[in-house]
Amino acid sequence: MNPSSRIKNLAREHGFALSGIAAVPEDGAAPRALALDAWLQAGRHGPLEYVKENAATRMNLRARFPWARSMLCVAAFYDAEERGERGRDLIAHVARYARGRDYHLIFTRRLKALGKALEAAGLCGRAHYYVDTGPVLERAWSERAGVGWIGKNTCLIHPQLGSFMLLGELLLDAASEPDPPQTDHCGTCTRCLDACPTGALPAPGVLDANRCIVTWNLELKGAVPEAQWAEHHGWAAGCDICQAVCPFNAPGRSTAAADEELAQPAPWQALTLAAAIALDEAAFDRAFQASALRRTGWKGIRLGALTAAGNVKAESCRAALLDCLKDADADIRARAAWALAQMEPSGRGERENRRTD
Ligand code: SF4
Ligand code: SF4
Repeated sequence: MNPSSRIKNLAREHGFALSGIAAVPEDGAAPRALALDAWLQAGRHGPLEYVKENAATRMNLRARFPWARSMLCVAAFYDAEERGERGRDLIAHVARYARGRDYHLIFTRRLKALGKALEAAGLCGRAHYYVDTGPVLERAWSERAGVGWIGKNTCLIHPQLGSFMLLGELLLDAASEPDPPQTDHCGTCTRCLDACPTGALPAPGVLDANRCIVTWNLELKGAVPEAQWAEHHGWAAGCDICQAVCPFNAPGRSTAAADEELAQPAPWQALTLAAAIALDEAAFDRAFQASALRRTGWKGIRLGALTAAGNVKAESCRAALLDCLKDADADIRARAAWALAQMEPSGRGERENRRTD
């Protein structure tokens, strides 16, 4: 068995459903680096300043890691079942990728162990892991490594397994045989562009972070200007409409199996939207332990739930919203008052919802 196959076998043994290897070129240029530059120049990153700050490393990994020769890209699938009822259950207002266990912790553990196993097997002398937070163009490297292609919705898609997957990387100092890049299968389909409720996909493969719901309710953890609140379309955390409509994720088509560890149920999944609004900090700590949503923070979850309740006019939350008008936190009070206003038939919320529907 050649070294490349042995590396991918070890990746599978360490819990990754998919893996592929990309060569890091001599000049260190990352795939799709020019597209990133154009995206930043056009201001499509919106308030996500951190993307701009570490863009130089994203575009050229060798600037920071001159020893890098290969990128091992790995992926595992999360549970993509429909869960809960909108207007009643918090889980129905949370994007699928944010529902499970915190993959950062799980992937970091697995990638550290995988790096050690590769070193012990003599397949590399040095390995450095990345999970989401580093300056790595994860989807672009994964596309080059053959794990999937970047669809018009900007997500990585596998032709048989769809896009409900999470990504990680190991940077290696060994030059292993690379996999062929995945080819584009979107064809003439435009379902994701048509379905995005905020127009955040203005062109195929172009995400306008200014308009994407995820920017406002996950990346910025709920601390957003009032003008954005009516634009969350019922999402308390994240949004995955552009993935849910993709034919490659259709239940009859995708054969992906959810990773058992990622899909372990968490206590917060039983919360109603009203209970999430009323959550105290100790209950948040208990319910969200080891959850991907923990990073959103206690206040971020409450703000997200308040916004979702206002968006969908959730009558089941009215009592919790009224209680929040006396909350110690001014942001919670303001968001609750706004959510209650959305429920008034002739109020400001009605006009805003007509405008955005
Ligand atoms: S995540 Fe939601 S808001 Fe963002 S591009 Fe996809 S459908 Fe649009
Ligand atoms: S919905 Fe269609 S266009 Fe969008 S990513 Fe999926 S296949 Fe591509």
